[in-house]
Amino acid sequence: MAVRNGQGKRILVTGGAGFVGSHLIDRLLERGHDVLCADNLFTGDKRNIEHHFGNPRFEFVRHDVCFPLYVEVDEIYNLACPASPIHYQHDPVQTTKTSVLGAINMLGLAKRLRARILQASTSEVYGDPEVHPQQEGYWGNVNPIGLRSCYDEGKRCAETLFFDYHRQHGLDIKVARIFNTYGPRMHPADGRVVSNFIVQALAGKPITMYGDGTQTRSFCYVDDLVEGLIRLMESPSDVTGPVNLGNPAEFTMRQLAEKVIRLTGSASGIAFAPLPSDDPKQRRPHTERAEALLDWRAAVPLEEGLPPTIAHFARLQAAAETQP
Ligand code: NAD
Ligand code: UDP
Ligand code: UDP
Repeated sequence: MAVRNGQGKRILVTGGAGFVGSHLIDRLLERGHDVLCADNLFTGDKRNIEHHFGNPRFEFVRHDVCFPLYVEVDEIYNLACPASPIHYQHDPVQTTKTSVLGAINMLGLAKRLRARILQASTSEVYGDPEVHPQQEGYWGNVNPIGLRSCYDEGKRCAETLFFDYHRQHGLDIKVARIFNTYGPRMHPADGRVVSNFIVQALAGKPITMYGDGTQTRSFCYVDDLVEGLIRLMESPSDVTGPVNLGNPAEFTMRQLAEKVIRLTGSASGIAFAPLPSDDPKQRRPHTERAEALLDWRAAVPLEEGLPPTIAHFARLQAAAETQP
């Protein structure tokens, strides 16, 4: 990555072998940039980026962001962190380290290079919100010692570090608060609601509904999110965020299950299971800031984003069935 090719920038994407990161890399390469992906493959998969192997503008390095990284780049998207509850609760200490030490190392790198850096933060910084929809000015309702805290508090601390590096060292920062995102390349076993429901519906197995299914989420298609991340990265320096990126259309988990069953043509029924602890009851982004500052709004409704996502899981299932 020492020599620049063409007009593009040299961009580091941490967590680039994951679901969101791999779509971001596709788009950055399309736009003519050089991309370095740094990922320890904890939840990511080389298959998400293998179509770029052999492209001289793409490089992959297996690296844990808890350790320092010395490379030369112009911009950094810091996405490294497991995102689904079963993954981030698998090794909660490592989750907090990834968010906090990862932020320190990537901010240190950005400081040495005077590079612009974007943090993939999360709607989880709002916890189980008492304000609805969630505005960026809301400070959140987060349990500091619960099962989700390693993720929520890790991400909150990362935001603190970003704003302190900005104030103390004049770093050019961007903080995106990402709401539930779905699309092709989601991991089939990551336990998230969209992947679980689709995998279960395609297999004709019962749909696992946690609680009574009246809790709400707002689902953003991954292409919309990637567009929002790039617009935020390319926005003027005084736009630091935090900026919510999400689709404001809000659904109960029952409504989601109905849609998935209909679109897959499945005969699956519903199997109710207990609600996990600290599970937020409602979530919907307030998106006026993104609209005003980035001229961005989610364009893909759930009805349009689900079919390509279902097709992705159907392909995985077909491939698994043909394996010896
Ligand atoms: P993902 O699990 O598919 O991707 C995360 C990637 O980070 C994986 O490739 C994983 O191997 C890598 N990673 C984990 N720990 C690492 C470490 N210590 N060092 C290097 N790499 C490491 O998740 P995703 O859905 O693509 O999420 C990407 C980012 O977006 C995460 O920071 C997540 O918190 C944030 N986010 C995602 C959502 C969503 O709905 N998908 C919502 C809010 C925020
Ligand atoms: N760092 C890095 N790559 C760099 C520069 C720094 O990974 O190119 C890491 C390094 O581990 C350092 C951390 O970023 O500890 C924070 O850097 P900073 O300059 O803010 O602090 P210091 O080096 O004084 O601890
Ligand atoms: N959920 C569910 N069945 C599942 C997986 C999740 O009912 O098989 C619920 C979960 O309890 C939560 C919502 O769906 O209320 C979204 O869960 P997810 O893990 O996808 O995201 P998060 O809770 O982090 O927003």
